[in-house]
Amino acid sequence: MRALTVVPQTSGSLAVTDVDEPVPGPGELLVDGLAVGVCATDREIAAGEYGWAPPGRERLVLGHESLGRVLTAPDGSGFAPGDLVVGVVRRPDPEPCGACARGQFDMCRNGKYTERGIKAIDGFASERWTVEADYAVRLDPSLADVGMLLEPTTVVAKAWEQIELVGQRAWFEPKVALVAGAGPIGLLAALLGVQRGLEVHVLDRVTDGPKPELVAQLGAEYHTDPVADVAGALHPDIVIEATGATQVVVDVLSASGSYGVTCLTGVTSAGRTLSFDVGAMNRRIVLENDAVIGSVNANLTHYRDGAEALARADAEWLGRIVTRRVPLEDAVEAFASDPDGIKTVLEL
Ligand SMILES: [Zn+2]
Ligand SMILES: [Zn+2]
Repeated sequence: MRALTVVPQTSGSLAVTDVDEPVPGPGELLVDGLAVGVCATDREIAAGEYGWAPPGRERLVLGHESLGRVLTAPDGSGFAPGDLVVGVVRRPDPEPCGACARGQFDMCRNGKYTERGIKAIDGFASERWTVEADYAVRLDPSLADVGMLLEPTTVVAKAWEQIELVGQRAWFEPKVALVAGAGPIGLLAALLGVQRGLEVHVLDRVTDGPKPELVAQLGAEYHTDPVADVAGALHPDIVIEATGATQVVVDVLSASGSYGVTCLTGVTSAGRTLSFDVGAMNRRIVLENDAVIGSVNANLTHYRDGAEALARADAEWLGRIVTRRVPLEDAVEAFASDPDGIKTVLEL
């Protein structure tokens, strides 16, 4: 069968190649791959900057934003042929650390976790794949065209959970949320904010294309002014950074209102320096009892929360986040960045 594979840490090695048919082991589902989403992590791996092949192998099957339909399921697994499923990306470290031992592999302390399509386990960008039933999540049948958005949704489901946990350290009745970035993560973060009944504002650079309309259709407000101007007028209780742009990261550190919770979700590269007023930022965070947290990845709780959030959302709106659908055989071209689009999806 065909799969999108790469030699990790080797730029120019991305190719659609033949790989062995997967054989489900005990407790595993055999799944017909429908689609995978492409994100910045995939592009980083394709550029040779990240990623690890399975032990003893040269090539890694890419793809961690999965969607498939169950072909075979073991008795008693809770799954049946025809179910729409998504595979969880991360597996706990073998040690395991205290967090992994408690199912919180998204909070792994020793970094020895593995990740499908990223770190030492094949991903989901193949015509068929297997997954342990314990690491598969069933989706509402209405999500057949957009279910590959679950994995990025789990990232924001966790971010919202973390924000709420941090907020609970004192009286917390948030009303206004500001999301920086209207890419897939920013839009899905805004969706979950609207579902919580918050007044949501989304900030991005672009003035045309689908982003302003997608934000408006959510019932949120779209802004293109600088972070400081927008935040100064709103005093947001919650700020979610989803651009990974260094200037925006610096700007959001001083963007919340009093007792604000700011959650950083962008994985930036090191090496870009800027100058900013550390004293003013520190003074503000201290005097306002603000909190700044980082959040990455997701565990099974967040997959279930994310699946519920997507099932409650307007499937047509979700479909508009997917601005490009490319057949697997054309996957290599699809990795060229698409500055006007939002989410590229490979159809398997
Ligand atoms: Zn991703
Ligand atoms: Zn761990």
